[in-house]
Parts: sequence; C-alpha cells; structure tokens
Amino acid sequence: MTDYQELFSRVMMKSAPAPLAVLARGEGARVWDVDGTEYLDFLAGIAVNALGHAHPVFVDAVSRQAARLAHVSNYFATEPQLELADRLTRLSGGDRVFLCNSGTEAIEAAVKLARLTGKPRILALENGFHGRTMGSLSLTGKPALRTPFQPLLPGVEHLPSSIEALEAALVAGDVAALVVEPIKGEAGVVELPEGYLRAARELTTRHGALLILDEIQTGAGRTGDWFAFQHEGIVPDAIALAKGIGGGFPIGALMTFGAASELFGPGHHGSTFGGNPLAASAANAVLGEIERADLVGNARTRGAELRARIELIGSPLVTDIQGRGLLLGVGLAEPVAGIVASRALDRGLIINAANEYRIRLAPPLIIGDEELHEFTRLFAEALQAVPSNYLHTDPGDTA
Ligand SMILES: *Cc1c(COP(=O)(O)O)cnc(C)c1O
Repeated sequence: MTDYQELFSRVMMKSAPAPLAVLARGEGARVWDVDGTEYLDFLAGIAVNALGHAHPVFVDAVSRQAARLAHVSNYFATEPQLELADRLTRLSGGDRVFLCNSGTEAIEAAVKLARLTGKPRILALENGFHGRTMGSLSLTGKPALRTPFQPLLPGVEHLPSSIEALEAALVAGDVAALVVEPIKGEAGVVELPEGYLRAARELTTRHGALLILDEIQTGAGRTGDWFAFQHEGIVPDAIALAKGIGGGFPIGALMTFGAASELFGPGHHGSTFGGNPLAASAANAVLGEIERADLVGNARTRGAELRARIELIGSPLVTDIQGRGLLLGVGLAEPVAGIVASRALDRGLIINAANEYRIRLAPPLIIGDEELHEFTRLFAEALQAVPSNYLHTDPGDTA
C-alpha cells in the first residue's frame, strides 16, 4: 500500500501542513479516508461543501456541463455564466458581478475597485483574513502570514475592531475603502462589536469611502441569511464571494452595488477561467438547490440547535460560542483546541482548530437531527478526553 504521508512530505511544497488523513470519497455530511475510516464532516472543506459531498444535483450539473461545454474564452459569453450573474444579483440585491476562481481573487478585484476611486488608503481589521496572494495578503491582518512577504501593497492600514478607530481613520477623507469580514472566520469565528457594520456603513458613506464586505466564508446561506450583511439591514458597496457558492467547484465573485458598479471599465480586469461555463453551472446548481431546499432556513434553525446542544454539554472548557447559523466558533478556556480537534478526529469527527483557543464549526448546510445528535456525542467525548495535565496552565498565561 502507498505510504501517503511519506509521499506527501516528499513531493508537496513545504507550505502545506502534514495532512490529518488522506480522504478518498464523501457522501452527504460524511467522508471516508483511503483506509475506509468514516468521518462526520463538521468543517465541509472550510465552509465550502454547502450541499455536503457528492450531492446528486452538483454531480449532475458538473457532469452534464463537462460533456457539453466546459470552457470558452472571455471573448464569448455562455448561458450558465449569465444565469449565475443574474442569480447572484437577485439574491444579494447587487447590480454587477465580476467572476473569478477563488476567494483571494475576489479580494484582488476588490483592491483594484478601491484603487479606481483614486483615493490612496485602504482600511482592514487586525486579525482579519482576506487571502494569501500579494494584494489580499496586504489586507490580511495576521502579522505571521504577512511578515515574510514584505514589502506588501502600500496604503493599507489595519485597525482595531472598534467604531472609534474606524471613525478616526476615515476623517481625513482620503480612504478608498474599508474591507471587512462580517464575522472573522479564520480568526476562529469571532463576531464584530454589536452595531459595527451599521456604523461602518454610516461612516464610510459620510467620508466618501467604499464599504467592501468579505463574505467569502459567511455567504451562500451559511449564517442563516443569503449573505451576512442582510442581517444588519445595510447595503454595502461590494461583497467578495467564493467558498460556499461553488459547493466544491473553485469559483469566486465580486458583486458591486449602486455607483461602485460603474468603477470598472473595459480592459480594467479579467481572468481566463473566471465564470467559465463549468464553474458557473456548478454554482447555479448549488445556489439553486440551497434555494429549493431552503437550506438558508436550515442553517438558521440547525445553527441555533447546534449552539444550544454545545451549551448543554456544559463543559467547563467552553468559554463562549460566537458566530451565526452554521458558522460557529467555540472558545476554550485553555490553549487546547488542537488537542480537542485531534481527539474528535480519533472518534470520527472533523472539526477545526482555527487557533489554540478556538474551535471552528462549519458543517454542510444539509445537516439534520442525526448529524447534530452524533456531533454532540462525539464533541462532548473529545472535550472530555483532553488530558488534565493540559488544563489549568499558568494563570499568568492570557488568551
Ligand atoms: C477563505 C477565505 C479567503 C480566501 O479564499 P481562497 O479561496 O482561499 O483564496 C478570503 N477571505 C475569507 C474571509 C476567507 O474565509
């Protein structure tokens, strides 16, 4: 039998961490590794597999489109592409869409949009995540990811997540855009202060800056509304999308609203693969099924149940639960998230240690009673299985 770990460490770029398992197939909310071990998937490819794995609607759409027309150049349009653009504008209330292939590319488009305002500064938040290519990395607020690649884009500033810091940064009137996640996903699902997005909308409008929301992780129904900004009753100038909208097919999008839709002109931006008929068909199928089966509603109700079940476990390790719908972050009193995730994996449950103090949960939007029940049992066991010598660390340590 192939020694996959040895092969991985020999041929994969060292940028990739050692794999937790080598997965071979999936169905619904479950995946199996090459040895046939079954796992309940409460990470869903990091909020990507909205319909779970191998959903017949997804499989059918991709297979049919591959057999019909997979790719054309941007000198031509296709029906799936136009249908997707129309669908995204309808679901979000936006006006125009630029289609690309990943989250980081959606943010690159947002950075170019911001530059087209002619103003020099772009604001983002400390501890935010927007991707790893050079433009989006410039916005990402994690020093460990940024430092090795400096110098990055000039004109980008990282602010603390407070309304006062935002107001102070905007007063000079030379800010092109604020780029912000409605919920900080990579930080371990951390909420913004209450009212932040509404205040950000008001302040950016007053000071002539764009409000660009990174909904790459929060979009496509995950938080219990189609897009997280819709909970707040605001209209942004742009939203970046990826992850869940393709349900596993790589795709990204930048949607603009109102006047921001007039900033890009002919020749300003493009992508060979962006919005090709194969990717667009996958996204149409995924978004269509989310709508047909009311998975947005399911994310809302199952998310509330999931949160209640975690609270009921009553583990002294759990300090807080943040997030919305089926994007939840569980805070821990000790830096043991990696151990909890590994104990869960041993029991056949995939969860994510976003950092040492936070567990991220992002199951497929299709989950029901059975999955919730099984999750609760396995997660409780995993929390229980943290050896006591890892607990009660030096009280001088702070989270
Ligand atoms: C995943 C993610 C990105 C980057 O998307 P990629 O497809 O990995 O390039 C950017 N922003 C947020 C909020 C994300 O969750």
